[in-house]
Amino acid sequence: MTATLIDGTAIAADVRQSIAARVAELSAATGRKPGLATVLVGEDPASQAYVRMKGKNCLEVGMESFSYKLPADSTQEEVEGLVRDLNANPAVNGILVQLPLPKHLDEEAILGAISLEKDVDGFHPVNIGRLVMKGRKPLFIPCTPKGCMVLLERSGVKLEGANAVVLGRSNIVGMPVAALLLHANATVTTCHSRSKDLRAICSEADVLVAAVGRAGMVRGDWIKPGAVVIDVGVNRVDDASRKSGYRLVGDVNFDEAVEVAGMITPVPGGVGPMTIAMLLQNTLDAFERTV
Ligand code: NDP
Repeated sequence: MTATLIDGTAIAADVRQSIAARVAELSAATGRKPGLATVLVGEDPASQAYVRMKGKNCLEVGMESFSYKLPADSTQEEVEGLVRDLNANPAVNGILVQLPLPKHLDEEAILGAISLEKDVDGFHPVNIGRLVMKGRKPLFIPCTPKGCMVLLERSGVKLEGANAVVLGRSNIVGMPVAALLLHANATVTTCHSRSKDLRAICSEADVLVAAVGRAGMVRGDWIKPGAVVIDVGVNRVDDASRKSGYRLVGDVNFDEAVEVAGMITPVPGGVGPMTIAMLLQNTLDAFERTV
């Protein structure tokens, strides 16, 4: 069997197009544009690249982008002070504090300082609390998990009653993905670094979401024939044939998995493009609540 590719690049482009159309409509009606503020503390090159990409994507769909860069040695009060200013700024509909923050800063307190109505990353403890509770609705769903769910929906995957296995339990990906799959009435197993016999657990999965950060960890013989595989992992592996000296691979051994799975997301070009599309969607939703 050769799996059908779930084309995240194409699906994200389609989502962005709908967002751009809605932004144009709302801007014409209100004379205002949705605005996203990014806060970057420190000089981490990967974080700088992510923030740049988010700003560029905002402009492409007609949104405003505000970029704030603070030095790596900023104090807790300085970062929280900026967040409070952005909370009070009516031109800013969404606030994104780029993670990870430098170690001396209290991430929980900074994320908790973001106004609930502007928490477009969905990491405010109240939003996360609502996400995991039955019958409650968060104002925003974290972008990567939301992107995984949109990929599944758009691919027509039936989740009700399906066995779903999530590898990873981070606050950013694994835990919220598991909660969303549960709300979609899948039977969910969440695995982590202490789980035993991952191969056996994964081989029962109708839907397998891998978010561990270990290149190619999920082998072809871990996958149930015909299963849907969502590979969230983004890992650098050495590749002398590339100018950069590396290439990006997922947590799933793609060449093996593609022979067994029914559908699979590639890396790159799967979940990655969806994350930013969902950030734009959340920013648009935040703006819509103000008009
Ligand atoms: P974290 O490091 O925060 O979490 C990794 C999780 O995987 C933890 O729960 C950990 O278990 C578990 N884990 C680690 N090693 C193993 C193992 N050998 N067996 C089983 N479980 C293991 O990572 P993130 O959740 O932030 O990210 C996961 C991956 O997704 C990374 O590759 C990251 O780059 C990528 N990512 C991609 C995004 C995108 O837009 N495409 C966005 C965000 C992340 P434990 O809890 O026990 O430590």
